Amino acid sequence: MKKKNTDIPNEGRRDFINKAVIGGAGLVMGVGSSLFSFSNSDTGKPAILGGAKAFRGVFPAWPIVGKPEEQALLDVVRSSRWGRLNGTKVAEFEKEYAALNGVKNVLGVSSGTNALYTILGALDTGPGDEVIIPVYTFIATYNVVVLNYALPVFVDTDIETFQMDARKVESAITPQTKAIMPVHMAGSPVDLDVISTIARKSDIPLIEDACQAHLAEWKGKKVGNFGLAGAFSFQASKNLNCAEGGAVMTNDDTFAEICYNFHNQGQGQARVGNYGTGAGTRATNVRLTEFQGNILLAQMNRLEKQVSRRSENAAYLDTQLGDIEGITPAKLYPGTTKSAYHLYMFRYDRERFGGLSREKFLNALTAEGVPCSPGYGKMNLSDYVTSLATNKHYLKIYGERTMKEWLERNLCPENDKLADEQAVWFTQNMLLGDRNDMDQIVEAIRKIHKHAKAIDKA
Ligand SMILES: *Cc1c(COP(=O)(O)O)cnc(C)c1O
Repeated sequence: MKKKNTDIPNEGRRDFINKAVIGGAGLVMGVGSSLFSFSNSDTGKPAILGGAKAFRGVFPAWPIVGKPEEQALLDVVRSSRWGRLNGTKVAEFEKEYAALNGVKNVLGVSSGTNALYTILGALDTGPGDEVIIPVYTFIATYNVVVLNYALPVFVDTDIETFQMDARKVESAITPQTKAIMPVHMAGSPVDLDVISTIARKSDIPLIEDACQAHLAEWKGKKVGNFGLAGAFSFQASKNLNCAEGGAVMTNDDTFAEICYNFHNQGQGQARVGNYGTGAGTRATNVRLTEFQGNILLAQMNRLEKQVSRRSENAAYLDTQLGDIEGITPAKLYPGTTKSAYHLYMFRYDRERFGGLSREKFLNALTAEGVPCSPGYGKMNLSDYVTSLATNKHYLKIYGERTMKEWLERNLCPENDKLADEQAVWFTQNMLLGDRNDMDQIVEAIRKIHKHAKAIDKA
């Protein structure tokens, strides 16, 4: 009876639930402390085997736009003040975003990458310096280090949280370490207690890559506030969006000024000297436009509500998906008081899905109408990254031996497991759906779980 009713071996209460459902009990029942609800369709055939899709709705498109965005653009167009140097919108946005985050200074820049680049430039990062970064991140985190001819030092992943493993940061520090640059992956904070303590103790600047983490909080304080500076992205996929844009955040007024100069060709806010002459260290132009500044002001009015909606839905998915054998939602560290949920992430265990590979699971889930992805690959082992060891400039700066050792230092076995076999992502816009949407996501995964062996054979 047990094996007959379910495609895959199962145990404990999951068995009981599957049997009850198969027994025609399309009902709501309490099991232990949690409540499971079933509709008849979740016993149906998987979509990939010709059944009906579990997800029948439409996820909210991104970005959400309306009259305020249209008006924001029109206002700037008509003002003829299109750049920050003669307009007021970027400055207004900076002031409001700073207030929202409880930080002293915000500087708008042209991208998240350029926010990090500005911070590293303002720190005068250069050849011979090392910057500690997580291996599980978007490639931009790596790129900004290499743009400065500094050496990126990878820290392996805590696969329970998908975050940089704070316990492995200290051993990555050397006399060359210029900065510790963790990423609040998916909008959830890294272990900021541990990492800020290490940074303070070793007197190394902490730079938060908060490009995915708008309004995320650690013990009630917004991320971006914990080190020397934080970086945010307003690229199109991000939770606050003006197509391309970013911001530097800092409570250090002097550092804020250096960042301003860096992003504005070395020209400070109070211009000293003649037009066209620089001041300070290196500099570039990564200014944000007034169009973007005003769009951000409009989008920012929607942000807090969206953060709440994503949090509610993510918490719901955590409990519902967490009850499916073989699905483990990414954990948050105990200090987390808010995640931005730029992504919803969980780990997939094929052994609990009758041996069904993650790739086939993703295909089956996509067929159910639920968009999903395996997330980041193994950045440290990619051709792009490993080729740094033979880059002529790097060989000139660091020498062959150091670059060979660098390749060996880069190994991240935990991250390999996560990237190769386990990680599954949903995008943030899906978390803006309603409860019914979430139920259908759960239903899709339950269906695949139940029919995993049949899907595997097909
Ligand atoms: C998006 C992102 C960046 C870069 O931001 P852009 O605005 O796309 O340049 C950097 N780091 C992380 C972790 C990101 O997710």
